[in-house]
Amino acid sequence: MSGNPVFGKVLAAVALLLGLGVSSPGADARAAYKTTQVAPGLYSFGAGLAFNAFMITDDGVIVMDSFDRDFAKASLAAIRKLTDKPIRYLIYSHNHYDHISGGEVFKAEGATILAHDATATWLERHPSADVVMPDQRWSGSKSELRLGRSLINLVYFGANHGEGMTVFQFPNERVIYTVDLVVPHRVGFAYMPDFSPREWERTLSEMDALDFDRVMYAHNAPVGPRSSVADQLKYLRDLRAAIDAELKKGTPFMQIPNTVKLPQYQTWDGYAQWLPMNAWRVLLEIAMGV
Ligand SMILES: [Zn+2]
Repeated sequence: MSGNPVFGKVLAAVALLLGLGVSSPGADARAAYKTTQVAPGLYSFGAGLAFNAFMITDDGVIVMDSFDRDFAKASLAAIRKLTDKPIRYLIYSHNHYDHISGGEVFKAEGATILAHDATATWLERHPSADVVMPDQRWSGSKSELRLGRSLINLVYFGANHGEGMTVFQFPNERVIYTVDLVVPHRVGFAYMPDFSPREWERTLSEMDALDFDRVMYAHNAPVGPRSSVADQLKYLRDLRAAIDAELKKGTPFMQIPNTVKLPQYQTWDGYAQWLPMNAWRVLLEIAMGV
């Protein structure tokens, strides 16, 4: 059913772990999908493990991430309940297939697919049958996309997770949409794949300097307060500090990931299973530099 069966399996495992009643962002989650208005014209769409964003402007609709074919179809249907304006853009947040598969659904509506140069370059080297190549690229650390009276700042903080990771800032609405970099009330995802913890921390502190009030997420919740950025940063810093403390104590290297405990986060999703994996990722970065 899903356009991306591997991702479907990963999500099923994540959903099971988190005790969520969905197994993929596709068919099984369809009943739970909902549209949340975050600000006039700005919406989150999805369910527990996958939320995209879309903006309805005077001159058409801008969609941010498609996840997979089934999700994209459901997302388009939700948009069509609100407006019959053309889909003008689909913007990719970064290169990971689990966020950007199924773009053909919006392309068929006439959307121009836009991605950061680093995302597009990576996709050229690692094409997927499920991912439509971008039509246009943007480059550098910031680009303004204007449509009608609406404005989206595309912000690139440099290497942190994946390639060309784009944070969407809606200055008029005082909101940002950031995927993967901030997931509220959850420890890092498994082994924190394709994350540089050090660069992630730097990015979060720079992100926290932007002017906004609320955050839209791709996982766990549609929208939350700006303090979730600082919370995510604090978790990573606390994890690093706990690992540093074990290193200083002389705890054997191989034992450190299972020794580290952060009880202040034990109510966060994934704590029991993923904390040791998160610790491995940070420990290896400390030891290897990458
Ligand atoms: Zn990712």
